[in-house]
Amino acid sequence: MTDLLTQLMMERDWLMADGATGTTLFNMGLTSGDAPELWNIEKPDNIRALYKGAVDAGSDIFLTNSFGGNASRLKLHDAQDRVRELNRAAAELGREVADASGRKVVVAGSIGPTGDIMEPMGSLTFDSAVEMFHEQAEGLKEGGADVLWVETISAPEEYKAAARAAELADMPWCGTMSFDTAGRTMMGITSADLAKMVETLSKPPLAFGANCGVGAADLLRTVLGFAAQGSERPIIAKGNAGIPKYVDGHIHYDGTPELMADYAVLARDCGARIIGGCCGTTPEHLRAMREALETRPRSDSRPTLEQIASTLGGFSSASDGTGDDAGPSRERRSRRRRS
Ligand SMILES: [Zn+2]
Repeated sequence: MTDLLTQLMMERDWLMADGATGTTLFNMGLTSGDAPELWNIEKPDNIRALYKGAVDAGSDIFLTNSFGGNASRLKLHDAQDRVRELNRAAAELGREVADASGRKVVVAGSIGPTGDIMEPMGSLTFDSAVEMFHEQAEGLKEGGADVLWVETISAPEEYKAAARAAELADMPWCGTMSFDTAGRTMMGITSADLAKMVETLSKPPLAFGANCGVGAADLLRTVLGFAAQGSERPIIAKGNAGIPKYVDGHIHYDGTPELMADYAVLARDCGARIIGGCCGTTPEHLRAMREALETRPRSDSRPTLEQIASTLGGFSSASDGTGDDAGPSRERRSRRRRS
């Protein structure tokens, strides 16, 4: 049987993913020291509201509240024994909201980084990373996730470990990396590197791409980098709503719904087939993105870096490491954030 995401991609030209998880939960009162995954049990209505916000705004795909739901990260909250339970609950709530929506909506089981540095730079072995991701994957599968969704990865070995875990769990998967360091991931991977790497995996992702990072402009430069590799594999764009800024002690994203609508249309023209937001992207942004994708015609040509910069603002670095022209830059410090 064909999985739901593959079915939808056969029926549709583009699909809209969701927006921010972290930003939305902080707005509901989560504090930065809390493990969001505990809310799957303690505050299920908040998680239902998080999912429903995306679905009601037109998302075809939404991610479960399980980004940090691996044993290594949950250990910080003394909840390392609850991996299966918390992931299953994240997916069960998702299944409930998706099934009640009256249309086809994909429940994507979010899997974030382990939080540990992998060998040889750190102490995490490939096998233990696989084991951690596999445990999480089985919980998400039990809860009814349609697909696994690996995100915000920096290290190629960690991406490969997640791919192996999806294989062990016999689940379709998607995987994005975060290109937040002058166009590369923190571990130095370029868009071209990822596009090539996914084709070498024994269980390649249904779709691959970029999430989070710096701003929407940088993210689209990365999407152009994927597209330049000529892969037929669907590309995912999940950019932040503008640039993070500290305002009154909080991180605030300055991207308006109008800016994210422009971003969504440009993302499609750059070659992305799955388009969503990341940090700072609220249902209001998603609604504007959906409307723009439905009403604005597709361009005949790929946007240039100049067009992206003039619409969304300049890039954080002069080059993205792939050797292409950089386009206008704007000095910005990157900030790592969870989605
Ligand atoms: Zn993010």
